[in-house]
Amino acid sequence: MIPAAFAYHRASSVDEAVRLLQELGDDARVLAGGHSLLPAMKLRLARPGAVVDIGRIEGLRGIRRQVDHVEVGALTRHADLAAARLPAGLEALAECADRIADPQVRRRGTIGGSLCHADPSADWPAAVLALEGQLVLVGPGGERVVPAAEWFVAPFMTALQPGEILTAIRFPVPQARSGSAYLKLARKASDFAIVGAAARVTVDGSGRCTGAAVGVTGVGDVPYRATAVEDLLVGRVLDDQVIAEAAARAVEGVDPVSDVHAGAEYRAQVAQVYVRRAVQEALGRALSQPA
Ligand SMILES: Cc1cc2nc3c(=O)[nH]c(=O)nc-3n(C[C@H](O)[C@H](O)[C@H](O)COP(=O)(O)OP(=O)(O)OC[C@H]3O[C@@H](n4cnc5c(N)ncnc54)[C@H](O)[C@@H]3O)c2cc1C
Repeated sequence: MIPAAFAYHRASSVDEAVRLLQELGDDARVLAGGHSLLPAMKLRLARPGAVVDIGRIEGLRGIRRQVDHVEVGALTRHADLAAARLPAGLEALAECADRIADPQVRRRGTIGGSLCHADPSADWPAAVLALEGQLVLVGPGGERVVPAAEWFVAPFMTALQPGEILTAIRFPVPQARSGSAYLKLARKASDFAIVGAAARVTVDGSGRCTGAAVGVTGVGDVPYRATAVEDLLVGRVLDDQVIAEAAARAVEGVDPVSDVHAGAEYRAQVAQVYVRRAVQEALGRALSQPA
């Protein structure tokens, strides 16, 4: 359980971190909360020759309310998000954070680290997909923004390019009468999701659904937007029957994974149930706001 030897560099700014990554090349890895990278290094699943610690860079941690979006710094810890006061419609962020692992992991692990690690059973991907997060990256070529729907490329692989650092995630402030929710069936030992479902629903004054987004994690080999579900929700008044009909399409176009934690058929069934419940919960929150 002792990692292979590596060089340690601490960056004091994003520019310095990007420069270090360029100098050190493919052999270097960014270190944030260390709660995925260090276990992998101790198991020698990862053997970087160098780590670039970004953990003390000013300005990368915290939640900032802007005019039309909420910006969450990449180094914001799960525990900070679990305790955050967020605008209506972004409830799934705090709910997701609160369901990750245990207090120790939540106090060290960061949202940015989780999104860059891209474990296909991690919780954040579902919430970030359903809340239509935009990932802000800084690299040698400057800044670029990647929508969450384009971020997850393969298991443990993202759209992050060599030399880039994720600096923040921007969440559009949902329209009035929006609600969101995150639910998961967790593995007993680690709390990673066997199935995790996040939903965001917006309704108009007559209770008709004007917008919906559903993110699912743990089911396929990458987290995904359940667009078939969304298509059946939008434009309709959402009663239990409509929601169940839509949720039945939770794994449309996806090959559910079979592993030691759950078989594919079971995952597919649980996904339908959790998507249905997440939509119902999000709808209840949307309807509780004044028309
Ligand atoms: C016991 C245990 C239980 C856990 N249970 C859960 C759970 O229930 N649900 C869940 O979702 N997760 C769980 N996790 C994972 C946890 O949430 C981690 O904190 C998270 O996956 C990684 O965040 P980190 O800040 O620790 O990243 P690190 O471990 O520091 O980094 C992870 C990877 O991302 C890269 N990276 C990190 N930050 C950046 C950045 N800003 N820009 C570019 N690259 C970056 C690193 O180079 C590394 O490859 C668990 C972890 C442990 C140890």
